[in-house]
Amino acid sequence: MNQQDIEKAAQMILAAREVVVFTGAGVSTESGIPDFRSPDGIWSRYDPEDFTIQRFIASKEARKRNWRLREELIAANYQPNPAHIAIADLERMGKLRCVITQNIDGLHQAAGNSPDRVIEIHGTIKFAKCLECDKRFPITDVLQRIKNGDEDPHCEVCGGLLKAATISFGEAMPQKEMYEAEKASRECDLFIVIGSSLVVYPAAQLPIIAKRSGAKLIIVNFTPTDQDSMADLVLHGKAGEVMSAILEKVREKVS
Ligand code: NAD
Repeated sequence: MNQQDIEKAAQMILAAREVVVFTGAGVSTESGIPDFRSPDGIWSRYDPEDFTIQRFIASKEARKRNWRLREELIAANYQPNPAHIAIADLERMGKLRCVITQNIDGLHQAAGNSPDRVIEIHGTIKFAKCLECDKRFPITDVLQRIKNGDEDPHCEVCGGLLKAATISFGEAMPQKEMYEAEKASRECDLFIVIGSSLVVYPAAQLPIIAKRSGAKLIIVNFTPTDQDSMADLVLHGKAGEVMSAILEKVREKVS
């Protein structure tokens, strides 16, 4: 970790009026949740095609594999790591406008971010939704039904197909969340990307919107991204270590 970069990031946070944090799967790998695209990521064990809305609707076998991944993620009872805690600290310091997350794991709220400051643009694994009537059910209830032998659960209200309340490939992005995410990206003066490969659009458009609207951009990621050349500061390292070091530096400077 380059100490000059940590110092620079801390100064940028202190100088900012309103920070937006944008997170991807890489913020949660230190909690034990694999990302999609790393060599041991989720796509090394599951077929991404099964996670298209079209395949989910068409194939009972794909739905069963889909529920198996949900079951795996819920059963593991993942906990926030130092990167989530550092982001929650930004809110406690009064610096954070919101966290825009592509993650579905709920770990920002578990770390202490207020639910109304977490914009989940790819949905949440905490609920299942009916694809017909939109009614939501706690995912643990639906997984229990599966455990009890209902291997292809349908809505108890209208009989429609149930699916985890996450956004599948080919499914429309949630309008309200995308509106709020774009607005926050336009209005903030510091945008921090943490743990995202920035290849999934339209989510990856948000740092571009922020930068074009005049915000400074920091990218914290293991590996280079296509947007590194646009950033004011790029830190290649583990999100937990980098974010803890930055927040420690911020605290040092305000005390
Ligand atoms: P991605 O898998 O495309 O990219 C993750 C990036 O994080 C990679 O560039 C990797 O180098 C980096 N990374 C991994 N571990 C890191 C660490 N400890 N510190 C810093 N960087 C690290 O993920 P993405 O950009 O979020 O986009 C793909 C989709 O993945 C999103 O839609 C998201 O919904 C979904 N996803 C979410 C979870 C979750 O909720 N935890 C898990 C897997 C995938």
